[in-house]
Amino acid sequence: MDSIVFSRSMAFVKRHLKVVFAFSFLINLLMLTAPLYMLQIYDRVLTSRSEQTLFLLTLIALGSLATLAALDVVRSRLLVRIGTCMDQWLAPKVFSLAMKNGVGARPTRDLDSLRTFFAGPTILAFFDSPWIPLYLLTVYLLHPWMGHVALAGAVILFALALLNERSTKLWLIESASNSAMADSFAEASSRNSEAVISMGILPGIRNKWSKFHRDALGFQAGASDRAGFISASAKFTRFSLQIAMLGVGAFLAIEELITPGAMIAASIIMGRGLAPIESSIAGWSHGINARKSYKNLKDLLMQGSVSDPLPLPEPKGAVIFDNVYAGPPGTSMNTIAGVSFQVQPGTSLGIIGPSGAGKSTLARLMVGIWFPKSGHVRLDNAELSQWDSDKLGPYIGYLPQDIELFTGTVAENISRFGEVDPAAIVEAAEIAGADQMIRELPTGYDTLVGENGSDLSGGQRQRIALARAFYKHPPLIVLDEPTSNLDANGEALVRTAVDRMRGAGSTVVIISHRPAVISAVDNLAVIQRGQLTHFGSPDEVWPQITRRATNTTEPDLQMAMRSEV
Ligand code: ATP
Repeated sequence: MDSIVFSRSMAFVKRHLKVVFAFSFLINLLMLTAPLYMLQIYDRVLTSRSEQTLFLLTLIALGSLATLAALDVVRSRLLVRIGTCMDQWLAPKVFSLAMKNGVGARPTRDLDSLRTFFAGPTILAFFDSPWIPLYLLTVYLLHPWMGHVALAGAVILFALALLNERSTKLWLIESASNSAMADSFAEASSRNSEAVISMGILPGIRNKWSKFHRDALGFQAGASDRAGFISASAKFTRFSLQIAMLGVGAFLAIEELITPGAMIAASIIMGRGLAPIESSIAGWSHGINARKSYKNLKDLLMQGSVSDPLPLPEPKGAVIFDNVYAGPPGTSMNTIAGVSFQVQPGTSLGIIGPSGAGKSTLARLMVGIWFPKSGHVRLDNAELSQWDSDKLGPYIGYLPQDIELFTGTVAENISRFGEVDPAAIVEAAEIAGADQMIRELPTGYDTLVGENGSDLSGGQRQRIALARAFYKHPPLIVLDEPTSNLDANGEALVRTAVDRMRGAGSTVVIISHRPAVISAVDNLAVIQRGQLTHFGSPDEVWPQITRRATNTTEPDLQMAMRSEV
């Protein structure tokens, strides 16, 4: 679907760029007004001394200059609107995909850069370049020798433009990638600013950021130095060409092969005609950035499915793992291997195991954040990959290990920034044991939280995030370490909440290191080194792992029993 939106947007852009192309032709044609007017004045008016001709010519020239100005305005506006429309169509998709792929704000910055390119002067130079032959032809018509001078100038300037591309491209790409690294490093560090400041990590982090930043500036300066040299050479070439043109023109005028008017007109026409090449050299870096942004956006949007997945019925909450191998996206690593089990709808499953065993991997697979590299993860009978994540979301309650609340009110956070249903919000908060705590906040459910909101304690955030997971009784609830910030009282509350949600028909999967929280689950799964080693009712599994832990020297299992569970 995203790829279709991208293709349609690009088809729209291309269609309208053709109109801009046509406008550019008319604009470049009308650009000849001033030199041709001058030619007529020198050659016709001054020799004939006809005021009537002067008046008429002036009127025609002013008319065509007014048309030129109007076309120029329309062309610029058209380009700005093409950029804005493209942005409006793509921005929601780009934002969603950036979030789903965890690539931060880079794609939205790419979209900004592409839109600004449409509104900037460089694109105009690119549109004016194809009409250079029109100017050359006009100079040739005035006299072939002057045409040769203009043609030689165009060839030299083109060569300089190519040299500019070749010599700055890699530097600009390196600069952009270092700058992106510096930005994302700064973003990540500011998210962990407390740890950064409290443990004296700041100098080290600053040094690392400075390196990226310095490299970005270094490459940028290298590219600018080269571009500056080539720009100056282009300017020198243009001025020299103008002198050459006047020199050749004067010679031809002395020989009475052309009039003085033709000499001046040729010089002006050549200057106008070659100006876009010089502007392209000056604005080349914008062109390169825009091309890179376009490529990034294309890669991001074209990776989506071609068609909208078929709408699926509301799931009952059965979870099926069938010989699943999976790991972090973008890597070939499998953090779980060959895992198979089933969870019946309306039952609860506890998952235990040592740190790094793959428990959170299972949770991410269950809620459709990660997908298996082989095998199948199904919700009821449908592969999770068949779901559109926006449609699946309301059927899932997920409490990740790292809790993030978003800038908004408590009510908005619990209702997942969808339609606010006060009764459902309060019910979810009550089940999560958060209602009383929220009412005691300065403005209760309307209190602003998240990055720009009130400071909440870890426990308060965890309870609000739990309420968000319970909101509107989703058929599948996955809680990854739901009590990591809670006291014994909070643990008991979570246990009751899990029972209530299960009683109401939800399937509840709970990952915890605390025996009290998983004591009442229907089934228990033990994960070690990415493998499912035990699965069954707690009555079956506990004796097995206790017996193995006392009889075995297997370090992971002992660790699971001693320090983890
Ligand atoms: P814990 O109890 O400490 O939370 P866990 O059992 O939940 O651990 P996982 O988070 O599933 O373990 O991680 C399993 C393995 O996958 C670990 O070795 C971890 O280093 C690796 N891993 C997890 N997430 C990523 C990621 N985004 N990129 C690379 N490796 C990852």
